[in-house]
Amino acid sequence: MNNDIYIYIHIPYCYKKCPYCAFVSFEKQFSTLDLYINKLIKEIKSFKTAKTVKSIYFGGGTPSTLNPKHIESIINAVYLNFSIDKNPEITFEANPISLKEQYLKSLNSIGINRLSIGIQSFLNKKLKTLGRLHDSSLGENAILKAKEIGFENISLDLIYGLYESKSEIEYELKKVCLLDIQHVSTYMLSVEKGTEFEKRLKNGSLRVSNDDEMADMYLFISEYLTSNGFEHYEISNFAKYGFESRHNCSYWLGYDYRGFGVSASSFIDGIRFSNTDSLKDYLSGKTVVFKEKLSKEDRIKEAFVLMLRTNKGVNIKEFDKMFYTDIKKLYGNTLQKFIDANLIIEKNGNLFLNGAKSMIISNAIFSELI
Ligand code: SF4
Repeated sequence: MNNDIYIYIHIPYCYKKCPYCAFVSFEKQFSTLDLYINKLIKEIKSFKTAKTVKSIYFGGGTPSTLNPKHIESIINAVYLNFSIDKNPEITFEANPISLKEQYLKSLNSIGINRLSIGIQSFLNKKLKTLGRLHDSSLGENAILKAKEIGFENISLDLIYGLYESKSEIEYELKKVCLLDIQHVSTYMLSVEKGTEFEKRLKNGSLRVSNDDEMADMYLFISEYLTSNGFEHYEISNFAKYGFESRHNCSYWLGYDYRGFGVSASSFIDGIRFSNTDSLKDYLSGKTVVFKEKLSKEDRIKEAFVLMLRTNKGVNIKEFDKMFYTDIKKLYGNTLQKFIDANLIIEKNGNLFLNGAKSMIISNAIFSELI
């Protein structure tokens, strides 16, 4: 096991709840923001570790609802409390509507070196259905402005599955390539329980793509982006060479991570724990509400499946050494079946999913391996 740790900071505030969103995020709660930052910093200071922080990730919610002073105070708390890598990746998720020139300059000078912009789409019709607050030109201008100010590591989120035509998806991908950014996270729309989208789907006012259409789009997106300089390095993620999200890779490679804030989860030395989902409880001082120690077998299986998500897959020798196991023996026929079916490839001592065609059915494969 290595001596690194990855820090996640959850900012649960949003300007407005999106109709498809099932994340722990709250609108119209800004009056509690200062108190939230106080509690967050207190939680950061209360955690001690000798490990070195390799990345800091501000996720949400909408971290760009914070003002620069808030962000600086959180980063200062992290720097004062932990030993930090010489060159940490510091990612900040941002809503395009926040990314005005002055705000971007502040983020840059505070030390944010990776922006993850919630673009979601370059089609106004789709942005409207998604209930987003920006339109396509505002989104595009935010990206251009961020580049002009000096951000050299920009990721965009894109959602698909709203019954788009292939030419609409192609239009969006072309935009991504022309904007010359470094990373794309793609999200297949999933209509979650309790969301506004669930109601709309039931009353017939929302049309979403069916499974076959989703699969076609997935393969098309993978083909398009990989033909245009991106590597399909994880099931839903694409990056130019050297721009894989260091932070997210920590989850897939089974490294230790520590989350702070409402609903944040952590995984340290084989123990998983999560904070309360309730903003009210967090503000009153409550943090961890769930803790579990994984059994050795569960830990091995979880790590194996997480590593299979990436295109590098699993190096059998290293994996066996790391977990004192024999992974092929542990899975026996269950794994061999997927190898024989060419869904998992075994090559030069590595196991990995057989490209986008296997990635698209990865949930079914993983459900038998977990
Ligand atoms: S901005 Fe993101 S976290 Fe906030 S409501 Fe919309 S989808 Fe959810």
